[in-house]
Amino acid sequence: MKAISVLGSTGSIGTQTLQIAEEFPDQFRVVALTAGRNLSLLVQQIQRHQPELVALADPALLPVLKQHLEDLPADQRPAKAPELVAGPSGLNAAASWDTADLVVTGIVGCAGLLPTLAAIRAGKDLALANKETLIAAGPVVLPELKKSSSRLLPADSEHSAIFQCLQGTPWAENARLSTGVPTPGLRRIQLTASGGAFRDWEAADLEKATVADATRHPNWSMGRKITVDSATLMNKGLEVIEAHYLFGLDYDHIEIVIHPQSIIHSMIELADSSVLAQLGWPDMKLPILYCLSWPSRLETPWRRLDLTEVGQLTFRGPDTAKYPCMELAYAAGRAGGTMPAVLNAANEEAVAQFLDERIHFLDIPDLIETACERHKADFMDQPQLEDVLSVDQWARQAVREAVQRGTRRMTLPAVAA
Ligand code: NDP
Repeated sequence: MKAISVLGSTGSIGTQTLQIAEEFPDQFRVVALTAGRNLSLLVQQIQRHQPELVALADPALLPVLKQHLEDLPADQRPAKAPELVAGPSGLNAAASWDTADLVVTGIVGCAGLLPTLAAIRAGKDLALANKETLIAAGPVVLPELKKSSSRLLPADSEHSAIFQCLQGTPWAENARLSTGVPTPGLRRIQLTASGGAFRDWEAADLEKATVADATRHPNWSMGRKITVDSATLMNKGLEVIEAHYLFGLDYDHIEIVIHPQSIIHSMIELADSSVLAQLGWPDMKLPILYCLSWPSRLETPWRRLDLTEVGQLTFRGPDTAKYPCMELAYAAGRAGGTMPAVLNAANEEAVAQFLDERIHFLDIPDLIETACERHKADFMDQPQLEDVLSVDQWARQAVREAVQRGTRRMTLPAVAA
């Protein structure tokens, strides 16, 4: 029985992790949960999973949660009331909770950084969904991992695919740790991308793109931020940086290939030119389950892949003119140091502004590029944690100020309306 702590339990990754825990009650026990604002769902999760600890991001919501729990009819209250905590120290407590064997990082954005570090420092194994943490703070996270007994298991479907393929190589021992050390014999990674919400749109039509359009993913059901990242293809750019830190390949050997069916979740090429791929329906439960069960595989009743039903697997190169975010991510990754943190924070802020309908979809890359350009003057090659946190705040503020000054595309219909 593995004890798991689920950070961001009310989100897409979090709820799917809890579904798995329910499906395999003999394998997994939920000992800690954290959430942001969705208290009604959190209360249901507490009732169902009876965790030992529950942490809220915002301390102001703690009395409200207590009240919700007290208001439950006596027969619906958890048998043993969980310890309730809040704020950064509360999230860190859930990430390092004594009885947890593995921590699922389902918090969205750089808000996941400090809890992830807390989990590593406590020697917990990690199912890493929160890619922004590694992208923003790779130079800080990797040395911490090397000092710790924690093992980083990638939950992102593409990185899980790579990780799964590596298990079948003679270098599986190295592939286990995923601490940015070059994996011997690994020549090339090909990350597959669905192409996101706008993959079949003409570039000129993107001027009409609305929030509703950008948050409608053709293949995957995910949270709103990552769905917009998929529409800009920034998600794939972030995954390139994530793959660099996880598997140690340089950027010239990490490629993106558009694969609209999302059946092949990524591929690796080995020294002898053999290519290995991992296939499955586009469903995040599979990579999450693999993190939880690794190195074992659990028998599931889940829908089995039928390639005759899929019919065709197609591939094409990415359109970098239509999707400038990919190139911005490669450039930030190659620059290294604090640049990926600026890219990530500028993206998070720009996407938040877009979801609030303050900017146009096409403003997102412009705002990120401007922030990265401005950061060149203050670039740091070997940042410490404080440096990462400081440039993260700077980049968010830089984007907010640029939006206040007005963006080039604000007069386009989707914003002007
Ligand atoms: P969601 O938006 O669905 O969920 C985010 C979770 O984080 C929620 O529980 C939310 O709480 C909580 N949260 C939000 N802001 C904060 C904060 N400031 N502090 C603490 N907790 C917070 O996101 P996803 O599940 O889609 O994504 C989570 C992470 O996993 C992201 O990094 C994403 O890139 C990655 N990922 C997601 C995939 C997916 O299929 N969804 C696939 C691969 C990677 P509440 O809702 O209660 O406010």
